[in-house]
Formats: sequence, C-alpha cells, structure tokens
Amino acid sequence: MPLRAVVATQVSKTAAALSRAAGRGDGSVIGGWIGLKIDPDLLAHLASGRAVALVSGTNGKTTTTRLTAAAVGVLGRVATNSYGANMPTGHTSALAKEGHTPFAVLEVDEHYLAQVIEATRPRVVALLNLSRDQLDRAKEVAMMAQLWKTALANHPDIRVVANADDPLVVWSAAASPQVTWFSAGQRWLDDSFVCPESGHPIERANGDWWCTGCPLRRPRPQWSVEDEGVTDPRGDWHLVKLQLPGKVNIGNAATALAVAAEFGVRTIEALPRLSRVTSIAGRYAQVDKDGRNIRLLLAKNPASWLEAFDMADQAPTLLSINARDPDGLDTSWLYDVDFAPLRDRPVLITGDRAYDLAVRLQVNQVPFRHVQTFDEALQAVPPGRLEVIANYTAFQDIRAELDRVN
Ligand SMILES: [Zn+2]
Repeated sequence: MPLRAVVATQVSKTAAALSRAAGRGDGSVIGGWIGLKIDPDLLAHLASGRAVALVSGTNGKTTTTRLTAAAVGVLGRVATNSYGANMPTGHTSALAKEGHTPFAVLEVDEHYLAQVIEATRPRVVALLNLSRDQLDRAKEVAMMAQLWKTALANHPDIRVVANADDPLVVWSAAASPQVTWFSAGQRWLDDSFVCPESGHPIERANGDWWCTGCPLRRPRPQWSVEDEGVTDPRGDWHLVKLQLPGKVNIGNAATALAVAAEFGVRTIEALPRLSRVTSIAGRYAQVDKDGRNIRLLLAKNPASWLEAFDMADQAPTLLSINARDPDGLDTSWLYDVDFAPLRDRPVLITGDRAYDLAVRLQVNQVPFRHVQTFDEALQAVPPGRLEVIANYTAFQDIRAELDRVN
C-alpha cells in the first residue's frame, strides 16, 4: 500500500481502539471516518488483493452477511463488518482492523452499493430484496432498483447472486451477464405489484410471478428453499440446521451458500459453520431472567415486521416502538403492517411511541396492554417464553437492560 494508506490505516485502527476504550461503541464509524479523511482512497487500498463479496438489500443483510462470512470461512480468514456499520466508514474500519485477509464479506447499505462497488471491486454482489424503509430518509424503492441496475451495468465482470422472488431485484440484476438466482420467498408484496420496466400489473400464482405487459418474469432459481433445507444447482437437497428462527433465515442461509459457492465453497462444508451462528449483535438472542425466556427480534420496516411475526412463537409478545433519529421520525408505516397475526396471543406495548402503536392495534382489533418499562413487561407475563419485537433504538434500549446481550 502507498505510505499515505499505511498511515491512514494505523490512525484508523488507533481511533477505533480509543473509541472502544472510552466506551463509545465499537469505534468502527469514527475509525473509518478518520482513515478516509487522511486517504480518501483508503477503502480501495484496503480491499485490493482480497476476494470481496458485498451483500445488500432492505432486510436480512446483517444476518446474511454473518452467515456468508461463516461459509466463506471454509477457505480462509474473512474480514467482515459484523456489527452492522454498513457504510464506507464501517467497511474501511472492518478491513483495517482485520489486517490482510484473503476474503472479505461486507454488508452494504443499499444507497451506497454503487460507491462501494467502485471502491472494492467485488467478485460477487448479493441482492436480497427491496421494500419501503424509513419514510423520511430512504429513496423510493423503484429509484433504488434503478441505482442498482446502473451500478451493475458498469461492471459486467461481477457475479451477481440475486433473489428471483423479488421483481425489483430481478429487474435490477437481469441485464448482468453472470447471475445466479436464488429463491428465498417474498412475504412482503406491497412494493412490487407494478412492473418496474413497463408499469403493467404483476401477477402471481404458486410462487411464480410475471409481468402482464412485458417479458419480465421470475427467472428459474438455481438455489431454492424447500421445507427445512436448500436445494442446490445440481438438484441435491441439504437439511439446514440453524440456531436462528424462521423460514426467512433458511432463505438467508440459501443466499449465503450461493455466494460462498461462487468462491468455490462446497455446501456440505459450509453447513456446519452456519449451524454455529447463534445471534447477531443481539438479534435472535435469548436471555433467561426471572423465569422468563426472552427472545429479541429486530424489525425496522413493514417487511421485517411481517417476518418477525412469522419467527415469533405463539407466546406473550412485547412490541416496542421508538421514533428517534436512527429509527426515522415518521411512524405512519405502522399502518402498512397487518398486526392481525398477533390477535391470538397476549400483546404488551412499550417505547417512546407506544401510543402510536396503541392506535394502530386498536384499528387492527388486536387487544393489548401498555407497560412503562421492560421490567413491568416481565412481571406481566407468566414464566416461559416472552417474544420481544422492537425497532432499532427500542431494540438497543432493551438490549442494554439485558446487559448488552450479543
Ligand atoms: Zn413489464
């Protein structure tokens, strides 16, 4: 590396370490920020010489990145941004911290994908899904799809691993010369009723979809989720045993296996590594307290709330909503989510915006009880499982109450 990049890397690592020592989080944002101030090309320098995979999408990217890093680990050391710092500062910091590794698997915020492709020259890009996110900040999903499409068109050498079940993802990726399609299902359909190419309605039946006005349709997937496992491109079915809940995580595992296969990882060697992943920065973590088994599920936007309902057991469920800066200030997305699946279980609500949630649940005819604190919630339910579903800062608040469980 050029001298400037060497110095920038060292300063970045030191800054991150100081930030950690001062108890200000994991330091990855500040470390990367300082490194990029000293050398604006630092990310490119750090990525050079590594085989890189990027993972992007609205939902599931932190989990899929973790599973992919575990799978690629079959071949050698992998640098990864495991704490969800998914912008170039976080990537810079993650690569600086790990030193030289043959591989890197990076989660990328969907808005930054084009920029990170330019800097890191990845071998593989995985595209998971696109759906509406924070209303006051995120781009319209069709605009995101257009950004992805343009970014990939500029790099025909990239191998794309993309979700055949999401019409926006298919439209973004279809022009790339090297695409491997996976099918992980799509629970949330409200952002893909209209064809991004022609504007005609999209029809669906039995897991298939097609545009009624142009040739855009679901490609045949090489990897797909079937029952509790994954079918690979040769047609062999593999049981996927995970410690993470829900069918959505089997889909994330299928994606990870497909990406790892692009690097030459054999599925049977990757599977035991996937089964050792327990929780990811507190997500899916289980904590026992006062006879209650508490499980933490993070849900940040309408699509991820639907997935959380699918993962949660039929057990008392605490919902917590904040609307601080990282969450987005607008809670009207609550009306995009159908809370009816919660009708047949005890529901508790809390958080800064519990009253917004209360109105939504009342409209949705879901009985609930409001609690002021997490401890009050614990005392309100019988011993046994308590599912907690919370958006970003509400999740962090509850995680702090549980001694920052990982
Ligand atoms: Zn069309």
